[in-house]
Amino acid sequence: MTPMVNLKAQYAEIKEEVERGLAETIENCSFILGPNVQAFEKETAEYLGVKHAIGVASGTDALHLALIAEGIGAGDEVITSAFTFIATAEAIKYVGAIPVFVDIDPRTFNISPFAIEQAITPKTKAVMPVHLFGQPADMTEILQLCEENNLKLIEDACQSFGARINGKQTGAIGHAGGYSFFPSKNLGAFGDGGLVVTNSDETAAKIKQLRNHGSDVRYYHDVIGYNSRLDEMQAVILRAKLKRIDQYNQARRHVAHLYSELMADLPLVTPYEDGLGEHVYHQYTLLSDRRDDILKALQDRQIGCAVYYPVPLHQQNVFKEECAGVSLPVTEAVSATCFSLPICPFLDDDTIREIVAIIRGVLTA
Ligand SMILES: *Cc1c(COP(=O)(O)O)cnc(C)c1O
Repeated sequence: MTPMVNLKAQYAEIKEEVERGLAETIENCSFILGPNVQAFEKETAEYLGVKHAIGVASGTDALHLALIAEGIGAGDEVITSAFTFIATAEAIKYVGAIPVFVDIDPRTFNISPFAIEQAITPKTKAVMPVHLFGQPADMTEILQLCEENNLKLIEDACQSFGARINGKQTGAIGHAGGYSFFPSKNLGAFGDGGLVVTNSDETAAKIKQLRNHGSDVRYYHDVIGYNSRLDEMQAVILRAKLKRIDQYNQARRHVAHLYSELMADLPLVTPYEDGLGEHVYHQYTLLSDRRDDILKALQDRQIGCAVYYPVPLHQQNVFKEECAGVSLPVTEAVSATCFSLPICPFLDDDTIREIVAIIRGVLTA
């Protein structure tokens, strides 16, 4: 059996460090915004090259709080991709704003800067690019569009922790960026967790307040906030993994490149690296007209596989009515043929060869 992500193998490597840290936390009983959250915030700010990193309860909350702090609200239009996880659009809806879904680049599956430009109206207040599957979106173009049109740039970096572009970290380029520590993400906790980063002192102060019931000083409340703090136990685990994140991402790149090399002669589309930044392969996602046959063959052999994402957001039940008339041909075509293979830092070459042999069997039968 080969899972999509081998979390057990990763745990074996950090077990001692994590168990020691967790035991200490239990002894100390400092469970909320304790020393590990504070240390993790300092360490991630340094790693990501930003002034402020604020731990929150999830990636969804990170995006939600970033939108509030940047002043996005009722009736504002936020341009984003429909080829992403629902949370990107949920965060936009939470603040009463309108997600404006635009099409993607057919090769990288990332939001198209040209499509963003076409969608800008007087109501547009922000752009929320997603660094999908770990590949940085075209931030040079997107940043320029945002500057020219006076728009907030809020990055969904939930799938791209550690991916760099133009010498910067994804998530650390715009006004604010959100990361997720959902267990299967490149930097994953043992439960939910998230992070907001920003270089703005004002945005950082607002997020710290919002995550903690609208309060800077205990029992004094300035705004209606949320209970959305990064958990102290999760911070222990994240600190152990943060030390190894570059190594993990390099191992993911090795897996991806071996897959692509072994499948180069097959009639399917392997992931395209546009070379603008460094892809950290949160997912290894391909296109094939024979998707369903391939998925069935892999499932029969107990190999993990999945479709990210089978239904683009503008066609989801929840958005169908709001998005009637929206047509995104590239997004729709990609959703109809995409599928993802197991990838994680602990997938060995023999298993990769085995998986490719199964796919080869389907396509050459
Ligand atoms: C995982 C993810 C989120 C949400 O993160 P959670 O921590 O699960 O709330 C948001 N956007 C994208 C693109 C994601 O992959």
